[in-house]
Amino acid sequence: MSNPDTVSSIVHAGLWMVATPIGNLDDISPRAISVLRAARVICCEDTRHSGSLLKRIGATPERLIVTNDHTEHDAIDEVLSLLADHAVVAVISDAGTPGISDPGERLVTAAVAAGYPVYSTPGPVAFVVAAAISGLPTERLAFDGFLPRSGAERRERLTEVARERRTTVLYEAPHRLQKTLAELRDACGPNRMIVLARELTKLHEDVWRGTLADAVQHATDVEPRGEYALVLAPYVSDTMDVSDTDILSELAQRTSRGLSKRDAIDEVTAALGVPRKRVYALAVSS
Ligand code: SAM
Repeated sequence: MSNPDTVSSIVHAGLWMVATPIGNLDDISPRAISVLRAARVICCEDTRHSGSLLKRIGATPERLIVTNDHTEHDAIDEVLSLLADHAVVAVISDAGTPGISDPGERLVTAAVAAGYPVYSTPGPVAFVVAAAISGLPTERLAFDGFLPRSGAERRERLTEVARERRTTVLYEAPHRLQKTLAELRDACGPNRMIVLARELTKLHEDVWRGTLADAVQHATDVEPRGEYALVLAPYVSDTMDVSDTDILSELAQRTSRGLSKRDAIDEVTAALGVPRKRVYALAVSS
């Protein structure tokens, strides 16, 4: 189908970010197929994985360049010289949209900095699909990708996520799901709603909805398998889901600004709408 507003089907020379399916192979777009067929070179994470997709759609690039987390930087010079030679260079990842929790960002940054055009063929992104079917507010969204694995960075991110006033989407590997859910419960309180969107668009697609306390139990009862996107309800200050971690972090922020303990307690009580007795007890025990 074409209409006067449709961009010409000519594939211009430049860098193309091409979205591929996150599960269901029928979700590749006709335009993505045209670009991959026209590409002189295709950057991909894994030649075997992408090789079967390219074979299926009849794309026969002159060559594939492996661009994973370790090799993307080294590929930049070669990609820039191809762009200088007016080539169509496509970037794909193992699944979904390249550059979204996947390699691609550094190539785009380099192409933009060097003044080459960057185009896209839009398509599946797991976090958008998960948010869209979650039933949680989608007017404003935060995407946080994978949480840092450990240490202070992870604790800080959990605190930020806990206080986020937009619906937040996270990615997580199945073997880390239980730990992440337990830490989210501790940071956000047990009553915060979460949606576990599993294996989207695939045969074993499953969407589980409930509180963080129940999610931890669910991940204990049913061994997590497959790919998960987690959609976390926003922080709302007048609900009961204010956790001890929230209160302690608010207190710490204020005392580090030079407030007295008493003033910090008063401010946090007002800001979080929780009983002063609770804030006081935490402040004196910390
Ligand atoms: N570039 C991809 C995108 O556009 O969504 C994301 C790649 S990231 C390396 C892989 C993570 O995305 C998985 O660990 C999972 O959290 C999420 N994901 C990918 N496919 C998914 C699916 N079909 N269902 C649920 N989550 C998925």
